[in-house]
Amino acid sequence: MSDLRVTFLGSGDAFSAGGRHQAGYLVQAPGGWFLLDCGATTLMATKRFGIDAGAIDSIFISHLHGDHFVGIPFLLLEFRYEQQRKRPLRIAGPPGTEERIRALIRATFKEFSVQPLPFALEFIEMSPDSPISFGELRLEPFRVPHQETETSLGYVVEVAGRRIVYSGDTGWTEELITRSHGADLFICECCYFETRLPFHIDYPRLAENRQRFTAKRMILTHLGREVLARRNEIEMELASDGLTVDM
Ligand SMILES: [Zn+2]
Ligand SMILES: [Zn+2]
Repeated sequence: MSDLRVTFLGSGDAFSAGGRHQAGYLVQAPGGWFLLDCGATTLMATKRFGIDAGAIDSIFISHLHGDHFVGIPFLLLEFRYEQQRKRPLRIAGPPGTEERIRALIRATFKEFSVQPLPFALEFIEMSPDSPISFGELRLEPFRVPHQETETSLGYVVEVAGRRIVYSGDTGWTEELITRSHGADLFICECCYFETRLPFHIDYPRLAENRQRFTAKRMILTHLGREVLARRNEIEMELASDGLTVDM
């Protein structure tokens, strides 16, 4: 293992097409471990792939759709009862993140939600184009077209001298080209094939623009039913659950 590893804990969409886990990408970096998104299946995926979820320091949420953040209460439960965690946990996401996550914890584990946690839970709300640094880690959120009134973010992450770009869920935008320019890894959603929508990406759109992407490695994820059914026609790299990328 190199000093920076990305593990695709979930490469599926909200419908868990093909039995795939929902969104969750673990980055194991020298300065700490963090998740990009935490879908409903994230804790299960860490155990399936033999990863200690307790070593996660931060969770960065792209947007407040269930397949990207509903796994958080299960992680908190794991940290409280299975691991006796003491280290703080940082959760950052778009505006409204703290309120939505607290409501989610109340809805899922009501009595647990009113007990004090034995570790600090720190919430940070991110605005598009307002970068934040945590030690060696720099996180630059950018707005992507995915929801009408709520904010959906993509992230440019600079860590340990490398750059990882994550699209989150998004429709086609030229920013996918510009933000991922020269990145070491570009994790890009590709939810559909024949269906074309303004708030998700279809494979033909990526294929049309393929020569314009300059990331050293680009991996398509958030793969839906149509994409999986026609995977033999796809000439770009597709994620799978458990895929690791050493960088
Ligand atoms: Zn979404
Ligand atoms: Zn999604």
